[in-house]
Amino acid sequence: MATTLEELPAEPFARFVAHANATNEIFLMAAKAVAYVLCRLETEGTEGYKSAMAHFEGPLWWDAVATPDDVTDEAAFRRTLRELLTESWTLLKPLLAPHAPAQCALLDTPAPYAIIVGAFERRNCAVQVASPVEAYFLAVDAMPEGDAKDGVTKVTAPLLDALDAAYSTPCDGTGIFPMQATLNHSCEPNVTLLKEEGAEERDGRVVARLMRDVAAGEELCNAYVDISLPVRRRRRELREYGFECDCARCERELKAADEKKATKADGKRRLK
Ligand SMILES: [Zn+2]
Repeated sequence: MATTLEELPAEPFARFVAHANATNEIFLMAAKAVAYVLCRLETEGTEGYKSAMAHFEGPLWWDAVATPDDVTDEAAFRRTLRELLTESWTLLKPLLAPHAPAQCALLDTPAPYAIIVGAFERRNCAVQVASPVEAYFLAVDAMPEGDAKDGVTKVTAPLLDALDAAYSTPCDGTGIFPMQATLNHSCEPNVTLLKEEGAEERDGRVVARLMRDVAAGEELCNAYVDISLPVRRRRRELREYGFECDCARCERELKAADEKKATKADGKRRLK
């Protein structure tokens, strides 16, 4: 918001980052995307620019955001988003415009930036990334036996004990994967998105991996929110994506919650 601008650091890069952290972290990823588009333009010319921008096609950010439940004045809500994005663009422009060729219109107006941010809003996918902590312990394990390994293990063994099974907890990442983003949501997903690792790793791509057997013709779905959350909390978070979840699990859990409530009310009546 405009009021936070005076509190931002003076250094231009720190200023942009602090604004994004205080308002919308998507701006950080979108800025990287703008830099990526500029790199493609520099190395491959107009064709590279067009193919890079193709990833982000769609509405402007302030039109792409689903209206939250507690918003009563939708026009004012979208105006605020527009102001926020314009602020972010104003801070980003001096950082990246010097790297844009003269004929490049990418940073001339907030619109292309708003389209990129909008793409993140609608199409970013949560991705599981293998734990770097796990990779570290595996590397220690693979060291040749000897004094060096003994020295390292002396330090790492207590850490490993303290972490226990949590040492391999994957990290939560996010990114734009247009094809994977076409998967619908289910609170009982049959697909999980994983970042490929090691020899499989190419271009930062992700793979959709089946979590269980699926029948022929069964829809593939992944989860947009944390599926360990209780049903009402999941449904509330999913409203941000612009829909009410009516998956089989939600229906089952809502029915069970209603029945429990009814039994409780019945018990109370009998006690009176
Ligand atoms: Zn559901």
